Amino acid sequence: MAKLIKNGTVVTAADTYRADVRIEDGVVKQIGTGLEAGGAEVIDASGHYLFPGGVDPHTHLDMPFGGTVTADDFETGTIAAAFGGTTTVIDFCLTDKGKPLRDSLDKWHAKSKGKAAIDYGFHLMIGEINDEVLAELPSIVQEEGITSFKVFMAYKNVFQADDGTLYRTMLTAKELGATVMVHAENGDVIDYLVEKALSEGKTEPIYHALTRPPELEGEATGRAAKLAGLTGARLYVVHVTCEQAVQAIAEARSQGIDIWGETCPQYLVLDQSYLELPDFEGAKYVWSPPLRESSHQQTLWNALKTGVLQTIGSDQCSFNFIGQKELGRGDFSKIPNGGPVIEDRFSLLYSEGAAKGRITLNEFVNIVSTRNAKLFGLYPRKGTIAVGSDADIVIFDPSAERTLSAETHHMNVDYNPFEGMKATGEPVSVLSRGEFVIRDRAFVGKPGTGKFLKRAAYKPAEAPATGSKETVRQP
Ligand SMILES: [Zn+2]
Repeated sequence: MAKLIKNGTVVTAADTYRADVRIEDGVVKQIGTGLEAGGAEVIDASGHYLFPGGVDPHTHLDMPFGGTVTADDFETGTIAAAFGGTTTVIDFCLTDKGKPLRDSLDKWHAKSKGKAAIDYGFHLMIGEINDEVLAELPSIVQEEGITSFKVFMAYKNVFQADDGTLYRTMLTAKELGATVMVHAENGDVIDYLVEKALSEGKTEPIYHALTRPPELEGEATGRAAKLAGLTGARLYVVHVTCEQAVQAIAEARSQGIDIWGETCPQYLVLDQSYLELPDFEGAKYVWSPPLRESSHQQTLWNALKTGVLQTIGSDQCSFNFIGQKELGRGDFSKIPNGGPVIEDRFSLLYSEGAAKGRITLNEFVNIVSTRNAKLFGLYPRKGTIAVGSDADIVIFDPSAERTLSAETHHMNVDYNPFEGMKATGEPVSVLSRGEFVIRDRAFVGKPGTGKFLKRAAYKPAEAPATGSKETVRQP
């Protein structure tokens, strides 16, 4: 049924204006003032913002890690995302060395199909480059619509790829118009520091942070940037946490290198001291890269403001404190890395960013939605409110005041890293392709209605034989 959202304030990455929005067949049909209902269901949004649905470029749902599996799968994770104002997630498909990439993709499609309540896409992990992998990649980009590859520079003997693999991934990605994403930390040195700490009896969660100093993130970021410059590939650095990495990105950008950077809410509002909480509670705050000393927070806000960093991802990777984080009691290296952030990403950036004046309302939309859609080949279908775009819309009450808590969140996990934090503003209702997923703070969607999104390459493939005519979209 057609819908008419009346009297809201439409906010895009470019503009803020009062307008009515008519939705038909899942897309925005008309934007204007004084629109007539004409048989459409009328929704009054007086006093509310209409934001494009959030695009979370970084999630790990139903992902095996460290002998366990994340607590949120594609059902609970996407429902929680929707409650928080996110209508698109891009999840990381892990691959296994020596096995066809296709097998891993099939696995990820099986995990998500029939479960996702909002639309989703995949990034593909590259752990090795060989003839088989090179033969598979063109069809993965051009036919499967998976246009970004993730390379880990850390997690030695698990996910880590060597520099040669990173370099060759970049060469291939450039040919195909795909983006290379890196987890930038020096895994070799970290591996040594972790072994050394454990051998000295340093087993508490805080040593997770102390064995991964910011210099090793800055070094890896700079190294990846140099390789991107050398190959001409587009590089996207996930979860940037510190001054050293921001500087490396700023320097590379000043040299014209095609490099982009993401940070996450946890690095903007939490710091390393949380890892020192008693009774092993510090384990709740174990991410890689780790939380940093609080002085880095201002650097990250400045970088978002000035455009040295452009996006915010949740790095959703939830593990219960009881039974999962506890695997690392007595050995911090066995604490599953990650936390539940998918639900609060959008609201935290609004509350701590836009509401506190650190960024403008339009910058908020850009960082939480538009830029992510552009960088990952989803724009203008996703990431904006415009005629012809998917009607993924958040009806947001900017005056709401609430407290973030595991008591009230919808993620399938027994703690919230932002427990007790006050947030200004709240997504009241959320539409995905014109249908309510959240209505008046209640879930009214259905698992399985989320669609897999084939994403566009950022430029047509260079090999002329493919005859590819994809649209060129620059962020
Ligand atoms: Zn991640």
